[in-house]
Amino acid sequence: MATANAALDPNSRRARRMQEDRAAAKKPRRAAKRPLWQTIVALAAVLALMGGSFGLGWHFGVDSTRYKGGILLVNEDNPLSADYVPEALVNLYEERHSFRLARSDIYVTRETYEAMEKMFAAAEDDNVNGFIVTSGYRDYQRQKEIFEESEPGYAQPPGASEHQTGLCFDVTTETNDGFESTEQYAWLRAHAHEYGFIQRYPANKAHITGISYEPWHYRYVGVKAATAIREQDITLEEYVGAV
Ligand SMILES: [Zn+2]
Repeated sequence: MATANAALDPNSRRARRMQEDRAAAKKPRRAAKRPLWQTIVALAAVLALMGGSFGLGWHFGVDSTRYKGGILLVNEDNPLSADYVPEALVNLYEERHSFRLARSDIYVTRETYEAMEKMFAAAEDDNVNGFIVTSGYRDYQRQKEIFEESEPGYAQPPGASEHQTGLCFDVTTETNDGFESTEQYAWLRAHAHEYGFIQRYPANKAHITGISYEPWHYRYVGVKAATAIREQDITLEEYVGAV
């Protein structure tokens, strides 16, 4: 009996060829033909290249040497590339509840914002209010402008500012004295680590961080790292082993 469509007949030559084609498509023709030693040599070459470039301190995008323990380290020796933009930035003006803002265009990563919100709400519960966040994410281009407008030594070169990570903020309060003399500062000194923040540039660590005392600058690193850094009285550089 002749079929109207030869492709429907499983025994037809065309149907068999199609079956063979499908089987061939599933199996790459050269699979497992490369000798094992070639694979090992190729892998070793890739690893050597990676190790070499990290060791020499080349900077292309963000490499794993600056993500020790999942923590991004940014300083003058470990700059970010011009095109590095953190994921999931949020505008604090649209999100914040328990702190004030100096401007309506301050952004940080969502994770950083959520930790900030928790922290400032806890301060409020302790009757410590009046925090004013003045700065968050700053892109490479903006840092370049600031650097070029500043006296030598007063601003980080583009790429070297931690503000490009979106993981930090500057804070102040209404005071005529310095922020470090306020009760808000005292509260942050005592509690910031419980919410994953560190005071990134302590008074006596400029020889390690490369940046002089900034009582207003806080960096999100997560509770575990922040607690360890505070308990050991060390810097982020020391914590990630970059010193
Ligand atoms: Zn800052």
